[in-house]
Amino acid sequence: MHGGIFGRSPSEPDPAEKPADELDPDHPLARRLRQQEELRECLQAKADLYNESEGHLNSLDGIDCPLCKNRGYTEEVRFNGYCYSILVECPCQKRRKSWQRLQNSGLAASIRRQTFESFEVTSSWQERIRKKAEQYVHDEEDRWFCIGGAVGCGKTHICTAICGELLNGNKSVRYMCWPEESVRLKGLVNEEEYNSRVRAYKECEVLYIDDFFKLGRARSAGGPSDADVKLAYQIINARYIARKKTIISSEWLMDELMDFDEATASRIYEMSKGYALQVEREKDRNHRYQERKKGKEDGDEELV
Ligand SMILES: [Zn+2]
Repeated sequence: MHGGIFGRSPSEPDPAEKPADELDPDHPLARRLRQQEELRECLQAKADLYNESEGHLNSLDGIDCPLCKNRGYTEEVRFNGYCYSILVECPCQKRRKSWQRLQNSGLAASIRRQTFESFEVTSSWQERIRKKAEQYVHDEEDRWFCIGGAVGCGKTHICTAICGELLNGNKSVRYMCWPEESVRLKGLVNEEEYNSRVRAYKECEVLYIDDFFKLGRARSAGGPSDADVKLAYQIINARYIARKKTIISSEWLMDELMDFDEATASRIYEMSKGYALQVEREKDRNHRYQERKKGKEDGDEELV
């Protein structure tokens, strides 16, 4: 009897079960496999050519990547029933985009200058700040870092150094200079651009808010306006709910932030437990630190 239901004798092995080199070269399946292999080789040769070529993205951002030779992409050949090639974004692209954003915000130059190494340490409280910041960079949890208080104590420097380290770890960082950006946003409040700008601050992987609630004039000018408080709450609350890393520097102490708006400040306080540093405005920091430290739980905000 010839053939079974598939038109093939039961004693005759299924050609599909044989390795390609044992098939009759003229068999349709063998021809198909040869075509596939030729296509794969062709695509691989094309991908190799692309992957060996040099890109020039490093000339724009100074980031040198041996993986993609600064093209930003690598070409890969894949098989999913048929052969095809695709461009895969290199991990360095995340860093490049982040750098680009920082470049636009004006923080890129200071990141090169304001590092942990260049942070001035001449007393124990400065050493404490640097240690906490270094510890924070290595904390895998999405904790926040908040440093408030005295003007000129290196708050911006240490926060910038943290951002630099996070960028090196391929995190995407967005910079917000509160006094400038809050004024710009409040002017856009009825425009579509307002929502997109605020959304970017709510949703970015890491946000650094510099000079939070800084007012145009001296501190004696009073607290932030209702519009400032509303804007801050929108951003802080969204990041609190989404548990997104946030770094905050401010001339205000935590108690003062609480007085302005408890809803916002309590979220900052909760998220930055262990990393909430307060630099006293008075000179005798150590003495006051000891006084205030009494009665505080470990992990609460720390006065340095
Ligand atoms: Zn790369």
